[in-house]
Amino acid sequence: MITAATPSAQVQAAPYAARVGMAGAGQLARMTFQAAADLDVRMQVLAGTADDAAVRAGAPYRLGPPDDLAALRTIARSADVLTLDHEHVPIQVLERLVADGHVVRPGPRAVRLAADKLHARRDLQAAGFPVPRFAEVHDVAGVAALAERTGWPVVVKARGGGYDGRGVHVVRDVHEAAAVLAAGGAWLAEEHVDLGSEVSVLLARRPGGETAVYPLAETTQVDGICRELTLPALLDPQLELDARELGIAIAEHAGVCGVAAIELFVTTGGGLLVGELAVRPHNSGHATIEACRTSQFHNHLRGILDWPLGDPGLRVPAAAMVNVLGAGDGRTTSRLPRALAVPGAAVHLYGKAERAGRKLGHVTATGPDPQAALQIARAAASELQGA
Ligand code: ADP
Repeated sequence: MITAATPSAQVQAAPYAARVGMAGAGQLARMTFQAAADLDVRMQVLAGTADDAAVRAGAPYRLGPPDDLAALRTIARSADVLTLDHEHVPIQVLERLVADGHVVRPGPRAVRLAADKLHARRDLQAAGFPVPRFAEVHDVAGVAALAERTGWPVVVKARGGGYDGRGVHVVRDVHEAAAVLAAGGAWLAEEHVDLGSEVSVLLARRPGGETAVYPLAETTQVDGICRELTLPALLDPQLELDARELGIAIAEHAGVCGVAAIELFVTTGGGLLVGELAVRPHNSGHATIEACRTSQFHNHLRGILDWPLGDPGLRVPAAAMVNVLGAGDGRTTSRLPRALAVPGAAVHLYGKAERAGRKLGHVTATGPDPQAALQIARAAASELQGA
Protein backbone atom coordinates (compact mmCIF):
# COMPACT_ATOMS: atom_id res chain seq x y z
CA MET A 1 0.00 0.00 0.00
CA ILE A 2 1.23 3.47 -0.79
CA THR A 3 0.70 6.00 1.98
CA ALA A 4 0.24 9.57 0.93
CA ALA A 5 2.80 12.00 2.24
CA THR A 6 1.40 14.43 4.80
CA PRO A 7 0.47 17.61 2.95
CA SER A 8 3.20 20.10 3.75
CA ALA A 9 0.62 22.79 4.53
CA GLN A 10 -0.33 20.80 7.64
CA VAL A 11 3.25 20.47 8.89
CA GLN A 12 4.29 23.15 11.32
CA ALA A 13 7.73 24.56 10.48
CA ALA A 14 10.03 24.30 13.47
CA PRO A 15 10.68 27.65 15.12
CA TYR A 16 14.23 28.92 14.71
CA ALA A 17 16.50 28.66 17.74
CA ALA A 18 16.95 32.44 17.43
CA ARG A 19 16.89 35.21 14.84
CA VAL A 20 19.84 37.50 14.26
CA GLY A 21 20.22 40.51 11.97
CA MET A 22 23.68 41.60 10.88
CA ALA A 23 24.67 44.95 9.40
CA GLY A 24 27.12 44.06 6.67
CA ALA A 25 27.48 41.07 4.39
CA GLY A 26 31.21 40.63 3.91
CA GLN A 27 33.35 37.61 4.75
CA LEU A 28 32.74 37.94 8.49
CA ALA A 29 28.99 37.82 7.90
CA ARG A 30 29.49 34.90 5.51
CA MET A 31 31.37 32.83 8.09
CA THR A 32 28.95 33.86 10.86
CA PHE A 33 26.12 32.71 8.58
CA GLN A 34 27.80 29.32 8.24
CA ALA A 35 27.92 29.04 12.04
CA ALA A 36 24.29 30.23 12.26
CA ALA A 37 23.24 27.30 10.09
CA ASP A 38 24.87 24.89 12.57
CA LEU A 39 22.80 26.33 15.41
CA ASP A 40 19.59 26.82 13.39
CA VAL A 41 19.80 30.55 13.92
CA ARG A 42 18.03 32.53 11.21
CA MET A 43 20.37 35.26 10.08
CA GLN A 44 19.44 38.15 7.81
CA VAL A 45 22.05 40.62 6.60
CA LEU A 46 22.14 44.21 5.38
CA ALA A 47 24.06 43.96 2.12
CA GLY A 48 25.49 46.65 -0.11
CA THR A 49 24.93 44.50 -3.20
CA ALA A 50 23.27 41.18 -4.02
CA ASP A 51 26.76 39.88 -4.78
CA ASP A 52 28.18 40.42 -1.28
CA ALA A 53 30.06 37.51 0.30
CA ALA A 54 27.32 36.47 2.76
CA VAL A 55 24.56 36.77 0.15
CA ARG A 56 26.47 34.50 -2.24
CA ALA A 57 26.55 31.92 0.55
CA GLY A 58 22.75 32.09 0.77
CA ALA A 59 22.06 34.54 3.60
CA PRO A 60 18.64 36.24 3.40
CA TYR A 61 19.28 39.95 2.89
CA ARG A 62 18.00 43.46 2.42
CA LEU A 63 19.91 45.89 0.28
CA GLY A 64 21.14 49.18 1.66
CA PRO A 65 24.18 51.17 2.75
CA PRO A 66 25.42 50.85 6.36
CA ASP A 67 23.61 54.04 7.42
CA ASP A 68 20.21 52.93 6.09
CA LEU A 69 18.11 53.32 9.24
CA ALA A 70 14.91 52.17 7.56
CA ALA A 71 16.48 48.93 6.29
CA LEU A 72 18.16 48.26 9.64
CA ARG A 73 14.85 48.85 11.41
CA THR A 74 13.16 46.31 9.17
CA ILE A 75 15.89 43.76 9.82
CA ALA A 76 15.88 44.48 13.57
CA ARG A 77 12.08 44.05 13.80
CA SER A 78 12.36 40.44 12.68
CA ALA A 79 15.42 39.65 14.81
CA ASP A 80 16.06 38.96 18.48
CA VAL A 81 19.43 40.70 18.25
CA LEU A 82 21.05 43.03 15.74
CA THR A 83 24.82 42.69 15.34
CA LEU A 84 27.58 43.94 13.02
CA ASP A 85 30.19 42.65 10.62
CA HIS A 86 31.91 46.06 10.44
CA GLU A 87 32.00 49.34 12.33
CA HIS A 88 30.57 51.59 9.62
CA VAL A 89 27.03 51.95 10.95
CA PRO A 90 26.93 55.53 12.32
CA ILE A 91 26.68 55.64 16.13
CA GLN A 92 23.54 57.83 15.91
CA VAL A 93 21.84 55.12 13.84
CA LEU A 94 22.73 52.47 16.42
CA GLU A 95 21.44 54.75 19.18
CA ARG A 96 18.14 55.22 17.34
CA LEU A 97 17.73 51.47 17.03
CA VAL A 98 18.40 51.04 20.75
CA ALA A 99 15.93 53.86 21.53
CA ASP A 100 13.37 52.01 19.38
CA GLY A 101 13.73 49.08 21.77
CA HIS A 102 15.87 46.80 19.59
CA VAL A 103 18.65 44.73 21.13
CA VAL A 104 21.91 45.87 19.50
CA ARG A 105 25.03 43.87 20.43
CA PRO A 106 27.67 45.16 20.68
CA GLY A 107 26.09 48.43 21.80
CA PRO A 108 26.91 51.92 20.53
CA ARG A 109 29.45 52.63 23.29
CA ALA A 110 31.64 49.66 22.33
CA VAL A 111 31.22 50.33 18.61
CA ARG A 112 32.36 53.93 19.02
CA LEU A 113 35.61 52.75 20.59
CA ALA A 114 36.24 50.60 17.52
CA ALA A 115 35.07 53.13 14.94
CA ASP A 116 36.71 56.34 16.11
CA LYS A 117 40.46 55.99 16.69
CA LEU A 118 40.85 59.38 18.36
CA HIS A 119 37.96 58.73 20.75
CA ALA A 120 39.43 55.30 21.52
CA ARG A 121 42.89 56.71 22.29
CA ARG A 122 41.39 59.39 24.58
CA ASP A 123 38.94 57.11 26.31
CA LEU A 124 41.40 54.27 26.90
CA GLN A 125 44.14 56.62 28.07
CA ALA A 126 41.73 58.30 30.51
CA ALA A 127 40.83 54.85 31.84
CA GLY A 128 44.51 54.13 32.47
CA PHE A 129 45.25 51.76 29.59
CA PRO A 130 48.66 52.02 27.89
CA VAL A 131 48.36 53.73 24.49
CA PRO A 132 51.02 55.24 22.21
CA ARG A 133 51.57 58.99 22.64
CA PHE A 134 49.09 60.70 20.35
CA ALA A 135 47.48 64.02 19.45
CA GLU A 136 44.50 65.20 17.46
CA VAL A 137 45.93 67.05 14.45
CA HIS A 138 44.32 69.57 12.11
CA ASP A 139 47.41 70.62 10.18
CA VAL A 140 51.11 69.98 9.60
CA ALA A 141 52.02 72.12 12.62
CA GLY A 142 50.09 69.68 14.79
CA VAL A 143 52.01 66.71 13.39
CA ALA A 144 55.31 68.58 13.83
CA ALA A 145 54.39 69.39 17.44
CA LEU A 146 53.87 65.69 18.18
CA ALA A 147 57.15 64.83 16.43
CA GLU A 148 58.89 67.34 18.73
CA ARG A 149 57.93 65.06 21.60
CA THR A 150 58.30 61.65 19.96
CA GLY A 151 60.75 62.16 17.08
CA TRP A 152 60.12 61.19 13.45
CA PRO A 153 58.65 59.12 11.90
CA VAL A 154 55.13 59.70 13.11
CA VAL A 155 52.02 57.69 12.25
CA VAL A 156 49.19 59.81 10.86
CA LYS A 157 45.82 58.07 11.01
CA ALA A 158 42.35 58.84 9.76
CA ARG A 159 39.99 59.09 12.75
CA GLY A 160 37.49 56.69 11.21
CA GLY A 161 36.54 54.73 8.14
CA GLY A 162 39.94 53.05 7.66
CA TYR A 163 40.63 49.32 7.56
CA ASP A 164 43.45 47.07 6.43
CA GLY A 165 45.91 49.92 6.83
CA ARG A 166 43.94 52.35 4.67
CA GLY A 167 44.10 55.63 6.49
CA VAL A 168 47.34 54.69 8.31
CA HIS A 169 50.41 56.56 7.07
CA VAL A 170 53.95 56.54 8.40
CA VAL A 171 55.36 59.99 7.66
CA ARG A 172 59.03 60.89 7.95
CA ASP A 173 58.84 64.69 7.82
CA VAL A 174 56.50 67.66 7.45
CA HIS A 175 56.40 67.30 3.66
CA GLU A 176 55.11 63.75 3.85
CA ALA A 177 52.67 64.82 6.56
CA ALA A 178 51.38 67.62 4.32
CA ALA A 179 50.82 65.20 1.45
CA VAL A 180 48.70 62.95 3.69
CA LEU A 181 46.67 65.74 5.29
CA ALA A 182 45.95 67.24 1.86
CA ALA A 183 43.36 64.49 1.37
CA GLY A 184 41.18 66.26 3.97
CA GLY A 185 39.22 64.65 6.81
CA ALA A 186 39.80 64.20 10.53
CA TRP A 187 43.20 62.93 11.70
CA LEU A 188 45.26 61.95 14.69
CA ALA A 189 49.00 61.48 14.85
CA GLU A 190 50.84 59.11 17.12
CA GLU A 191 54.36 58.04 17.92
CA HIS A 192 55.80 55.39 15.66
CA VAL A 193 56.14 52.45 18.03
CA ASP A 194 59.21 50.19 17.69
CA LEU A 195 57.33 46.95 17.23
CA GLY A 196 58.85 43.73 18.49
CA SER A 197 55.67 41.92 17.48
CA GLU A 198 51.89 42.34 17.32
CA VAL A 199 49.46 40.09 19.13
CA SER A 200 45.70 39.84 19.13
CA VAL A 201 43.63 39.02 22.19
CA LEU A 202 40.47 37.50 20.79
CA LEU A 203 37.59 36.91 23.17
CA ALA A 204 33.87 36.41 23.36
CA ARG A 205 31.68 37.96 26.03
CA ARG A 206 28.10 37.54 27.17
CA PRO A 207 25.94 40.41 28.43
CA GLY A 208 26.44 39.31 32.04
CA GLY A 209 30.22 39.46 31.64
CA GLU A 210 31.09 35.75 31.18
CA THR A 211 34.14 35.79 28.94
CA ALA A 212 35.94 33.15 26.85
CA VAL A 213 39.47 34.14 25.89
CA TYR A 214 41.20 32.50 22.94
CA PRO A 215 44.89 31.66 22.95
CA LEU A 216 46.88 34.72 21.90
CA ALA A 217 47.69 34.97 18.19
CA GLU A 218 50.75 36.65 16.74
CA THR A 219 49.96 38.64 13.61
CA THR A 220 52.23 39.92 10.86
CA GLN A 221 51.23 43.09 9.03
CA VAL A 222 52.63 44.27 5.72
CA ASP A 223 51.67 47.84 4.74
CA GLY A 224 49.14 47.85 7.59
CA ILE A 225 47.30 44.77 6.31
CA CYS A 226 47.34 41.46 8.19
CA ARG A 227 49.18 38.94 6.02
CA GLU A 228 49.66 35.98 8.31
CA LEU A 229 49.13 34.77 11.83
CA THR A 230 50.44 32.04 14.09
CA LEU A 231 48.67 30.46 17.04
CA PRO A 232 49.56 30.30 19.86
CA ALA A 233 51.82 33.36 20.04
CA LEU A 234 55.09 32.26 21.60
CA LEU A 235 55.52 34.98 24.20
CA ASP A 236 57.26 35.17 27.50
CA PRO A 237 54.68 33.69 29.94
CA GLN A 238 54.43 36.86 32.06
CA LEU A 239 53.95 39.01 28.95
CA GLU A 240 51.28 36.61 27.73
CA LEU A 241 49.46 36.86 31.03
CA ASP A 242 49.69 40.66 30.96
CA ALA A 243 48.39 40.77 27.38
CA ARG A 244 45.43 38.54 28.24
CA GLU A 245 44.56 40.62 31.29
CA LEU A 246 44.86 43.83 29.32
CA GLY A 247 42.54 42.45 26.63
CA ILE A 248 39.97 41.30 29.17
CA ALA A 249 40.07 44.62 31.04
CA ILE A 250 39.56 46.60 27.83
CA ALA A 251 36.66 44.37 26.75
CA GLU A 252 35.06 44.87 30.15
CA HIS A 253 35.64 48.62 30.04
CA ALA A 254 34.12 48.80 26.55
CA GLY A 255 31.16 46.63 27.55
CA VAL A 256 31.80 44.34 24.60
CA CYS A 257 29.17 41.75 23.75
CA GLY A 258 29.94 38.96 21.31
CA VAL A 259 33.43 38.62 19.87
CA ALA A 260 36.07 41.34 20.11
CA ALA A 261 39.73 41.51 19.18
CA ILE A 262 42.12 43.71 21.08
CA GLU A 263 45.21 44.21 18.97
CA LEU A 264 48.31 44.91 21.05
CA PHE A 265 51.73 46.22 20.13
CA VAL A 266 54.61 44.43 21.87
CA THR A 267 57.42 46.98 21.90
CA THR A 268 61.03 45.99 21.29
CA GLY A 269 61.53 46.78 24.97
CA GLY A 270 58.94 44.15 25.91
CA GLY A 271 56.14 46.56 26.86
CA LEU A 272 52.51 46.44 25.75
CA LEU A 273 50.54 49.21 24.06
CA VAL A 274 46.99 49.12 22.74
CA GLY A 275 46.89 49.00 18.94
CA GLU A 276 43.21 48.97 18.13
CA LEU A 277 39.96 47.39 19.10
CA ALA A 278 37.48 45.49 16.89
CA VAL A 279 34.08 44.57 18.32
CA ARG A 280 33.05 41.77 15.95
CA PRO A 281 34.59 38.59 14.62
CA HIS A 282 38.07 39.45 13.39
CA ASN A 283 40.62 38.40 10.82
CA SER A 284 42.93 37.33 13.65
CA GLY A 285 40.29 34.76 14.67
CA HIS A 286 39.74 32.92 11.39
CA ALA A 287 42.05 30.08 12.41
CA THR A 288 39.72 29.31 15.33
CA ILE A 289 37.49 27.42 12.86
CA GLU A 290 40.03 24.63 12.50
CA ALA A 291 42.24 25.20 15.55
CA CYS A 292 39.89 25.76 18.49
CA ARG A 293 37.10 23.83 20.15
CA THR A 294 34.65 26.64 19.35
CA SER A 295 35.15 29.01 16.44
CA GLN A 296 34.91 32.78 16.88
CA PHE A 297 31.81 32.76 14.67
CA HIS A 298 29.95 30.30 16.89
CA ASN A 299 31.03 32.20 19.98
CA HIS A 300 29.96 35.52 18.48
CA LEU A 301 26.44 34.18 18.04
CA ARG A 302 26.49 32.55 21.47
CA GLY A 303 27.73 35.79 23.08
CA ILE A 304 25.19 38.13 21.47
CA LEU A 305 22.33 35.66 22.08
CA ASP A 306 23.37 35.30 25.73
CA TRP A 307 23.90 31.58 25.35
CA PRO A 308 26.64 29.62 27.14
CA LEU A 309 29.98 30.29 25.46
CA GLY A 310 31.98 27.46 23.93
CA ASP A 311 35.48 26.38 24.92
CA PRO A 312 37.97 28.64 23.11
CA GLY A 313 40.91 26.30 23.78
CA LEU A 314 43.14 24.84 21.08
CA ARG A 315 42.32 21.35 19.85
CA VAL A 316 45.66 21.10 18.05
CA PRO A 317 49.15 22.00 19.21
CA ALA A 318 49.43 24.96 16.83
CA ALA A 319 47.96 26.62 13.76
CA ALA A 320 48.66 29.32 11.21
CA MET A 321 46.58 31.42 8.85
CA VAL A 322 47.63 33.24 5.71
CA ASN A 323 45.36 35.76 4.01
CA VAL A 324 44.87 35.32 0.27
CA LEU A 325 45.20 38.68 -1.43
CA GLY A 326 44.10 39.32 -5.00
CA ALA A 327 46.99 38.89 -7.42
CA GLY A 328 45.34 41.32 -9.81
CA ASP A 329 45.21 38.90 -12.74
CA GLY A 330 41.58 37.89 -12.10
CA ARG A 331 42.52 34.22 -11.88
CA THR A 332 42.78 33.61 -8.13
CA THR A 333 39.73 31.36 -7.86
CA SER A 334 40.67 29.38 -10.99
CA ARG A 335 43.82 28.31 -9.13
CA LEU A 336 41.75 26.79 -6.28
CA PRO A 337 42.45 23.14 -7.25
CA ARG A 338 46.19 23.79 -6.99
CA ALA A 339 45.78 25.12 -3.46
CA LEU A 340 43.53 22.20 -2.52
CA ALA A 341 46.32 19.85 -3.60
CA VAL A 342 48.46 21.09 -0.70
CA PRO A 343 48.02 18.46 2.03
CA GLY A 344 46.66 19.86 5.28
CA ALA A 345 45.59 23.24 3.91
CA ALA A 346 42.05 24.41 4.75
CA VAL A 347 41.12 26.91 2.05
CA HIS A 348 38.37 29.50 2.49
CA LEU A 349 37.29 31.71 -0.41
CA TYR A 350 34.88 34.59 0.13
CA GLY A 351 33.44 34.97 -3.37
CA LYS A 352 34.66 38.54 -3.68
CA ALA A 353 35.50 40.24 -6.96
CA GLU A 354 39.25 40.35 -7.46
CA ARG A 355 41.26 43.52 -7.04
CA ALA A 356 45.01 43.53 -6.54
CA GLY A 357 45.70 43.36 -2.80
CA ARG A 358 42.05 42.75 -1.79
CA LYS A 359 41.44 39.99 0.77
CA LEU A 360 39.74 37.23 -1.21
CA GLY A 361 40.09 34.39 1.24
CA HIS A 362 42.41 32.75 3.72
CA VAL A 363 44.16 29.46 4.30
CA THR A 364 44.51 27.80 7.69
CA ALA A 365 46.74 24.87 8.57
CA THR A 366 47.38 23.10 11.83
CA GLY A 367 50.54 21.35 12.92
CA PRO A 368 52.90 20.34 15.69
CA ASP A 369 54.21 23.91 15.97
CA PRO A 370 53.28 27.32 14.52
CA GLN A 371 56.09 27.39 11.95
CA ALA A 372 55.24 23.96 10.53
CA ALA A 373 51.61 25.05 10.15
CA LEU A 374 52.70 28.32 8.58
CA GLN A 375 54.70 26.55 5.86
CA ILE A 376 51.58 24.64 4.77
CA ALA A 377 49.29 27.67 4.84
CA ARG A 378 51.84 29.74 2.92
CA ALA A 379 52.23 27.06 0.27
CA ALA A 380 48.49 26.94 -0.44
CA ALA A 381 48.10 30.73 -0.35
CA SER A 382 50.98 31.06 -2.83
CA GLU A 383 49.26 28.64 -5.18
CA LEU A 384 46.12 30.77 -5.09
CA GLN A 385 48.07 33.96 -5.61
CA GLY A 386 49.94 32.42 -8.52
CA ALA A 387 53.20 33.22 -6.75
P1 ADP B 1 43.56 49.52 10.54
O1 ADP B 1 42.36 50.07 11.23
O2 ADP B 1 43.64 49.91 9.10
O3 ADP B 1 43.77 48.04 10.78
P2 ADP B 1 45.60 50.06 12.58
O4 ADP B 1 45.47 51.29 13.40
O5 ADP B 1 45.30 48.76 13.21
O6 ADP B 1 44.79 50.28 11.20
O7 ADP B 1 47.07 49.98 11.99
C1 ADP B 1 47.42 49.00 11.06
C2 ADP B 1 48.86 48.57 11.29
O8 ADP B 1 49.74 49.68 11.14
C3 ADP B 1 49.12 48.04 12.68
O9 ADP B 1 48.77 46.69 12.81
C4 ADP B 1 50.63 48.26 12.79
O10 ADP B 1 51.34 47.25 12.09
C5 ADP B 1 50.81 49.58 12.07
N1 ADP B 1 50.72 50.69 13.05
C6 ADP B 1 49.61 51.35 13.42
N2 ADP B 1 49.88 52.29 14.35
C7 ADP B 1 51.21 52.22 14.58
C8 ADP B 1 52.11 52.91 15.44
N3 ADP B 1 51.70 53.90 16.23
N4 ADP B 1 53.42 52.56 15.42
C9 ADP B 1 53.86 51.57 14.61
N5 ADP B 1 53.07 50.89 13.77
C10 ADP B 1 51.75 51.19 13.75
